[in-house]
Amino acid sequence: MIGVHGLQHAIDLVLAVLAAGCEPARKVDEDGLAPLAPGGDRLETTIAEERGELGRAIERSASHVVAFRPLHPCDDTRAVPLTSPERISIVEVAPRDGLQAEDRTLSTDVKLELLDRLAESGHTAIEATSFVSAKAVPQLADAERLMKLLKPRAGVRYTALVPNQTGLERALACGVREIAVFASASESYSRKNLNQSRDAAIAGYEPVIARAKAAGVRVRGYLSMVVADPWDGPTPAPLVADLSRRLLDFGCDEISLGDTIGVGTPGEVTALLGALRRGDVPIAKVAFHFHDTYGQALANVLAAMAEGILTFDASVGGIGGSPFAKMAGGNLATEDLVWMCRGIGIETGVDLDKLVATSRWLGERLGRELPAHVSRAMSIPRS
Ligand code: MG
Repeated sequence: MIGVHGLQHAIDLVLAVLAAGCEPARKVDEDGLAPLAPGGDRLETTIAEERGELGRAIERSASHVVAFRPLHPCDDTRAVPLTSPERISIVEVAPRDGLQAEDRTLSTDVKLELLDRLAESGHTAIEATSFVSAKAVPQLADAERLMKLLKPRAGVRYTALVPNQTGLERALACGVREIAVFASASESYSRKNLNQSRDAAIAGYEPVIARAKAAGVRVRGYLSMVVADPWDGPTPAPLVADLSRRLLDFGCDEISLGDTIGVGTPGEVTALLGALRRGDVPIAKVAFHFHDTYGQALANVLAAMAEGILTFDASVGGIGGSPFAKMAGGNLATEDLVWMCRGIGIETGVDLDKLVATSRWLGERLGRELPAHVSRAMSIPRS
């Protein structure tokens, strides 16, 4: 039974809520943000409200309550004065780029379940495996079996990495309809990763890409170390433009430019895009592949979006660095990218909750906590 004082408190609380809800729209500044009262904290209030701590939030900030606005509504872009697209495409790379860097090798069945979960989350482009030598990358030694068991799914493209003609023939024999080739924009990484000079490796792809195109297969070209290389230092942006154009001239449908060690900032990304434009590289065919080593991946995505890039690689859980560049940090986590896009109002087609559930599931299979910020934050129990 509620006592008189309890009832009065409840009535006061309801009135306070109604007063806050009916408050006239607050004057906003030119960025669309309501001015903060001294000591006010917009985010703190909103999170408290979301937690159901409405009474306490009002009590704490009664004189400057902000109108309730849930975090991250897809249709509200007022607070973010950015040039951003309505929609981006994500290429999910965890099953290949991610798993190849893990100590634990997953069974083919678990990989198939991962691919299924990612497609169920809304992904339409997934890098499934790699036809490199099983000796070099034992984690993906089951590429043939995996691709033969993987059932085609309407609207989903599955890519397989191939290092050379032999890898391509293996992939084609399994019915692969999209391949990726990988080159380096730096000399040292090419020699360490591909055992060839940069120019020899790129030239070697010409017949591979021609054969794939003749077979009606879509081709993605990776270019690594586009910002800097740990051994060679900064990579000249005009060189990246030149190598990108060369791969496109060979027939690549798309180029994915990788900041493989994650050192780039929006400054380098913007400069690189300027060089690509000056070098007549069609921006519509360029994707970016950022690593979060220095915590710059999302900032770099925003910088690239502002310059018209619409395709980004990401890895669920943030797994994957490079087995040949140990200092490289993890890939940009898909859930971190999707979270940011939701906040800005950019459609990705990916269901965040399903993705986070998949990330947790994958962490259990890999026996470790995965580095993605969003999945870790969403796993913290609310008290
Ligand atoms: Mg990567």
